[in-house]
Amino acid sequence: MTAKIIDGKAIAADLRGKVTDAVHRLTRDRGIVPGLAVVLVGNNPASESYVGSKMKMTAGTGMRCFDHRLPEMTSESDLLALIARLNADPAVHGILVQLPLPNQINSQEIIAAIDADKDVDGFHPVNAGRLSAGLPALAPCTPLGCVLLAKTVQSSLAGLEAVVIGRSNIVGKPLAQLLLAENATVTVAHSRTRDLPAVCRRADVLFTAVGRGEMVRRDWVKPGATVIDVGINRVTEQDGTSRIVGDVAFAEVSEVAGAITPVPGGVGPMTIACLLANTVRAACLLAGLRPPTFGGQMVDDRE
Ligand code: NAP
Repeated sequence: MTAKIIDGKAIAADLRGKVTDAVHRLTRDRGIVPGLAVVLVGNNPASESYVGSKMKMTAGTGMRCFDHRLPEMTSESDLLALIARLNADPAVHGILVQLPLPNQINSQEIIAAIDADKDVDGFHPVNAGRLSAGLPALAPCTPLGCVLLAKTVQSSLAGLEAVVIGRSNIVGKPLAQLLLAENATVTVAHSRTRDLPAVCRRADVLFTAVGRGEMVRRDWVKPGATVIDVGINRVTEQDGTSRIVGDVAFAEVSEVAGAITPVPGGVGPMTIACLLANTVRAACLLAGLRPPTFGGQMVDDRE
C-alpha cells in the first residue's frame, strides 16, 4: 500500500480562500474589518519567521494586522500593559503573543491576561476549560488543523480509535478534546506510556505531537490508518546540511498507512490558516454575529 499524501498546503490555501471570502462579506455587509494583533518579544529567529508568515497571510485575507515588536528585555508589567490596551481596542479582534517568551516573563500570566474572547491561539484557561466542557470555545490552531486534515480523508471520526502521542497544553490535550467532540474513542499517550508501539497500532487515526524525529516506525502503524504528523524536528546530515523531519518515519510509514501528512507541508500551513479562521470567528462573536463555518470545515458549535 502507498499512502495518500494529505496536502496540507493545498487544504490550508482552500481554508484561507474561505476566510478571505468571510472577511470580504463582514467588511461589505457589516463594516467590520477583523483585526489581529501579533506581539513578538525579542529576536528569536524561528519566532520572527513564524510571526512574519502569520502577518503576511493575515494581510492576504483583507484583515488588519497590528505588529507589536518589543525588545528582549521587556518587563512583564510592560507586556501586561500592552495586552490591556489591545483588550480594550475595538479594532483588535484577535491577540496572539508569540511563544516562547523571555525568561523574565511568566507566559501563563500573559496568556491569562488576554481577553478570552480575543484569545485566537485558544490557550487561555477559560477557552481550555470551555473546550473540555464541550462548550463553545476558541480552540488552539494546531489541533484544529489536525482534525480538519484528518477529516479530509475520513468523512467522520465517530467511533474511530484515535491515538494522540503527546499531552502538551498547546497540542496533545486540546487535540484529545476536539477528537472527543468528534465522537472518536481517544487514547492520549506520553513518555510514560507502556508499549507505545502497541498502543499506536490500535489507531485508525494516529496523531503524533512529540518532538522526536522519525520516532514512529512502520510497524507502529495499523495498515490503512490515517497518520497526522505534528512534529517539527531539525536533523543534521553527515555533510553538515540540515533538514526538517516529522515525528514519523515518513518513507516507511507511507508504505502501510492509508493516508499521511508530510513534514513540511502538512500540519504547519493549517496552523496559520486556522489562526486566521479563529480571528474571523472572534470578530463575529464579539459583534454578536454567528461565526462562519468556512464551507462546513469548521462546525458551528453554536447550533
Ligand atoms: P512538548 O510540550 O514538548 O510535548 C511533547 C509531548 O511528547 C509530551 O507530552 C511528552 O510526554 C511526549 N513525549 C516525549 N517523548 C516521548 C516518547 N519518547 N514517547 C512518548 N511520548 C513522548 O511539545 P509540543 O509543544 O506539544 O510539540 C510537539 C511537536 O509538535 C514538536 O516537534 C513541535 O515543534 C511540533 N509543533 C508543531 C506545530 C505546527 O504548527 N506544525 C505546532 C506546535 C508544535 P510527557 O508529557 O510525559 O513529557
